Amino acid sequence: MIDWDPEIDSPAAVVVVGAGPIGIETALYARFLGYDVQLIDHGKVAGNVLKWGHLKMFTPFHRNSTSLGLAALRAQEPDLKLPDPNAYLTGQQYVNEYLVPLAKTDLIYDGVHVHSRVVSISRVQSQRDDASSGDERGGDEFRILVDSKSRGPWTARADIVIDTTGNFSLPRGIAPGGGSPIEPVESEDVIKHAWLDVLGKHQDLLRDKHVLMYGNGLEAAHFAVAMEQLAKSHPQTKLSWVTLPDENGNPTLRDISCAAVYSPSHELSELQQQCHALLKGTSSSVVPIAAWGIERIDRIPNGTLNVTLLTGFEDTLQRSCDLLVRANGMKPQWDFVDALRIDRCSHTDGPKGAAAIASSSGEQRSWTGESLLTTEPHYYVLGGKSFGSRDGFLLQDGYQQIRSLFALIGGRADLDLYKRAME
Ligand SMILES: Cc1cc2nc3c(=O)[nH]c(=O)nc-3n(C[C@H](O)[C@H](O)[C@H](O)COP(=O)(O)OP(=O)(O)OC[C@H]3O[C@@H](n4cnc5c(N)ncnc54)[C@H](O)[C@@H]3O)c2cc1C
Repeated sequence: MIDWDPEIDSPAAVVVVGAGPIGIETALYARFLGYDVQLIDHGKVAGNVLKWGHLKMFTPFHRNSTSLGLAALRAQEPDLKLPDPNAYLTGQQYVNEYLVPLAKTDLIYDGVHVHSRVVSISRVQSQRDDASSGDERGGDEFRILVDSKSRGPWTARADIVIDTTGNFSLPRGIAPGGGSPIEPVESEDVIKHAWLDVLGKHQDLLRDKHVLMYGNGLEAAHFAVAMEQLAKSHPQTKLSWVTLPDENGNPTLRDISCAAVYSPSHELSELQQQCHALLKGTSSSVVPIAAWGIERIDRIPNGTLNVTLLTGFEDTLQRSCDLLVRANGMKPQWDFVDALRIDRCSHTDGPKGAAAIASSSGEQRSWTGESLLTTEPHYYVLGGKSFGSRDGFLLQDGYQQIRSLFALIGGRADLDLYKRAME
């Protein structure tokens, strides 16, 4: 039961924070309904997808696009060549052939602000801790402070804020239990994230180097297999692959084949098998190590790193390496909404309302507008961030969320622009 009314008629001002696949689609949907929309992104359009742009997506293009998006592109440029619906695009192709053209459609282009970080969102009059009711807060506009590369700081006002900033903002801790290790202050040159294009543009950084990687999910799997491939042509290349132990103390891989359910022809199961073999020690260039996490990192005078791993309550193991790669995932950022009242799930650090649905299995997840309500009136969290630090978000979840949310805001349960675009 909420003490405010989620319905807001167009034209009202909507600010969408984050121009990833879900932010772009949200902006498009809202514009079709006549809302006045600003779409604000920290970096480039779909910058987070570009981080893993060299990798192939695990669902085909028809699952990563919508009837509304395709209709908008055809209306803008009738001769535009669109990807084959059954093609498995790389992240880069998806951005170039779908997301960027969408962001450039007349419908949303004027409201798109790139290289503009949202620094803080508050209400114009209500403080976070004052006694105002939901109804009073809901009637008060949002104030959004933006730090833009070209314009400097500026503010926007909005009746509705939709947060689609994803769950790729901050690295998760690599110390035991997800904490932080003791580490040297300036280490960006030798500590990297795993979305490196090992066989492409980042090869120079990795070739004939000893790399220590920590992680056991999809990003770790891609990285390990690519490093093994690189070692075939550059035999000095070595990978120490540190993962959590199973109950018998052996290095483990998290289940990465779940995504293959949506695309049985995809090579994810093969990737999983290759990784299981690597973790059994079948490769001379990949050394598996089971550990609870990285206790400390020291930089030694020759520029390499000395990494201390915790392998038991009192047991440690030292390894030196040229580069440390974090491959244990990312998490969302919340500090820019400090002045708002947003309920969060203590388990996933995602918004509370969405947590139960996010934890159900992909084919059964059924989003309702109500599941997207937060304790801050007219503030919604869609896309990868709605899952918090949990894996398993699919673009199809995001499209379902958008449809359900605008049915709620529009006060029409049957409102479905996707269905309409297909007629
Ligand atoms: C390797 C890989 C392959 C995948 N393949 C598939 C697939 O085949 N099918 C599928 O359904 N899903 C797939 N996914 C999952 C999903 O597509 C992605 O997680 C997707 O990027 C989520 O979209 P999003 O719009 O929610 O968030 P993001 O793409 O993370 O976008 C968030 C945006 O918000 C911006 N931002 C963050 N903070 C701020 C701020 N303070 N101010 C302004 N802007 C900000 C960021 O710059 C970014 O552009 C894949 C994920 C990975 C990692």
